[in-house]
Amino acid sequence: MDEWMPPENMVRLDDPASGLRGFIAVHSTALGPAAGGCRLWRYPGEGAASGDALRLAAGMTMKNALAGLPLGGGKAVLMLPEVPFSREHLFRAFGDAVEALGGRYVTAEDVGTGVEDMAIVARRSAHVAGCPQAAGQPGGDPSPWTARGVFRSMEVAARRHLGRSLDGLTVVVQGVGHVGFALCELLHAAGAKLVIAETRSDLAARAATRFGADLVSTRAITQLRADIFAPCALEGVLDVAVAATLQARVVCGAANNQLAVPEVGEMVAARGVLYAPDFLVNAGGIINVAAEYLGWSQAEVATRVDAIAPRLTEVLDLADACGVSSARAATIAARQAIGTAGRLSAPALSVAWQARCA
Ligand code: NAD
Repeated sequence: MDEWMPPENMVRLDDPASGLRGFIAVHSTALGPAAGGCRLWRYPGEGAASGDALRLAAGMTMKNALAGLPLGGGKAVLMLPEVPFSREHLFRAFGDAVEALGGRYVTAEDVGTGVEDMAIVARRSAHVAGCPQAAGQPGGDPSPWTARGVFRSMEVAARRHLGRSLDGLTVVVQGVGHVGFALCELLHAAGAKLVIAETRSDLAARAATRFGADLVSTRAITQLRADIFAPCALEGVLDVAVAATLQARVVCGAANNQLAVPEVGEMVAARGVLYAPDFLVNAGGIINVAAEYLGWSQAEVATRVDAIAPRLTEVLDLADACGVSSARAATIAARQAIGTAGRLSAPALSVAWQARCA
């Protein structure tokens, strides 16, 4: 539970006829409708699913605020049925649940769901994005935009922390799914040397062939000597043990909630690792989703995605000036964007921070 800002609403979904079971967490509507994707995943029980929904929705509140979007944070977590089911029926029922919230929650695709599922939802509710893309309009798979924001942020991080461009640097990429593969395309074109770990052998082989990348075991990946580590697979990849032994000097990737516990942000900073906060650098996808929902142009999406890297510079400057980790600086910046920084319950900020950020 986020003590700073508790969730506004938690809706339990249970429709035995379609197999729909799960939760919609509306964490905050302070800046606008609570936006965040719909995850379909196998969970051991309702407790795990509701916990995931709450945590992910709180993360969306921070991400959307820091991206300057007129959106709050929410998330839907659906429990993958144990028995065969019809996606048509399940997502129709989910669409009805979204519609019943009257626009307080806006859904889109996430892990385990795709544009076809959102097209079903769109037949039952207006409050959905990530649907098949009309020519020249925002929409469709948000992954290329996410990859672009991460790539530009990585350029900034490399220049700042390693004093060089990405050309010739070794980047270890964990996961070459939708975002990871698109990121590799950009890194390869920029002259980076790629090392890849991917659990799916077909995707690993495709990336190795296309980019001349080295493949490594998924277990060894955080222990490799590399310039940059790009987590593009799992949540919680940076736990206390990894933070104590990580060999890369920069961490910048697309995965959500990379820090297993908040203290890891301080740990990696103390070891001289530049951590580019995940919810800052991976906002490209939600910017595309927002554009689709709010009717913005593709040019607007590009402008806003390209504002991510300069924002990373601002956050890193603030972290340096105030003697806090980048993760903490990003959290505080997001809370300020929400406009209730006075409610901060975290440890007292340094004098420098207060002077600069009051
Ligand atoms: P994806 O499912 O397409 O790709 C993830 C890949 O990681 C898969 O190919 C999977 O096989 C691989 N993988 C899983 N466990 C692994 C492990 N232990 N080691 C190596 N590889 C492993 O998902 P995606 O859309 O590319 O998203 C990747 C991450 O970025 C997720 O954490 C997601 O929440 C986050 N994210 C995605 C977007 C987006 O636009 N798609 C936006 C923001 C954040």
